[in-house]
Amino acid sequence: MELLRPSSLEEATAALGNGSRALVGGTELVPLVRDGLVQADTLVDVRDLIPRGIDGSRIGAGTTLAELEVEPQIPEALREACRLAASPQLRNMGSVGGNLLQSTRCWYWRLKYPCYLHGGDVCHAKAGEHREHAIFGNERCASAHPSDVAAALVALGASMRTTSRELPVADLYRLPTDDNRDVAPLEPGELILDLDVPTPDSSVYLKAMERQRYAFPLVGVAAARTAGTTRIALAGVAPIPWLLASPEALDEATPLPRTAYKVDIARALVRRALEAL
Ligand SMILES: Cc1cc2nc3c(=O)[nH]c(=O)nc-3n(C[C@H](O)[C@H](O)[C@H](O)COP(=O)(O)OP(=O)(O)OC[C@H]3O[C@@H](n4cnc5c(N)ncnc54)[C@H](O)[C@@H]3O)c2cc1C
Ligand code: SF4
Repeated sequence: MELLRPSSLEEATAALGNGSRALVGGTELVPLVRDGLVQADTLVDVRDLIPRGIDGSRIGAGTTLAELEVEPQIPEALREACRLAASPQLRNMGSVGGNLLQSTRCWYWRLKYPCYLHGGDVCHAKAGEHREHAIFGNERCASAHPSDVAAALVALGASMRTTSRELPVADLYRLPTDDNRDVAPLEPGELILDLDVPTPDSSVYLKAMERQRYAFPLVGVAAARTAGTTRIALAGVAPIPWLLASPEALDEATPLPRTAYKVDIARALVRRALEAL
């Protein structure tokens, strides 16, 4: 395998695609390559090219979660989502851009079962072990999106700038379909450069997990209030970060036999989040 260190974004973009992948912290990509879940003959190290740091409402996509969790300027929901994610070592290496593009932790997917998300016809989790899986958007794939940070950014109404466009973070995500199984598709060679995170009047992130440290969200609830309007987004409940139209929308959940408990957790966390706001 080849490791490229381009000296400009233009060079990096040109080197991406066709069997090459962008590398920032490598906390997600390196294990996927090692386990054969991502086929790449070239890794393009863009760590020094992606903006890093915080400037008002702008956050460079190369900023680490560890840098964000101690930054008083950024909204509480994002700070707390970073603080509760992964382990200190991973937060020191992992970037916010890479966090948004992490793959599902579904064990069937990670074990390379030929499931729907891998391009097959069936979701093995729905008929099999699915205790940590989805309660929304789970018709074809019942995976649970693992990013605390994405839920916080969606609740905060953040947008992102890439090498080719600007879009709301929420619009990066789509449920997998028969013609495209990718839940966060970028164009070939497209890199996330930075995020614009509006400052709400108040915001909060609450996370239920198997243990109090170093665990993915069973359910994460981000809520942000701006000028009397509240946005709520959930992690760990659907194949993508899930924007909840209102607390009552939890009645529309479609839990699997062993994920109904997540609806109860989501109700409790949404109630607590709204009280906290
Ligand atoms: C054991 C473990 C536990 C974790 N627990 C949590 C958790 O509880 N909550 C949570 O939210 N996250 C969790 N994470 C995810 C962790 O936060 C991410 O792995 C990390 O943020 C990814 O950032 P990175 O810079 O290392 O990405 P990389 O591994 O370098 O890249 C990840 C992917 O994103 C692409 N990429 C990276 N940056 C860009 C960019 N700027 N533009 C375009 N493409 C890009 C890469 O090509 C690759 O496909 C966990 C990860 C691990 C391994
Ligand atoms: S939940 Fe999604 S990733 Fe997991 S087995 Fe089903 S289709 Fe595959």
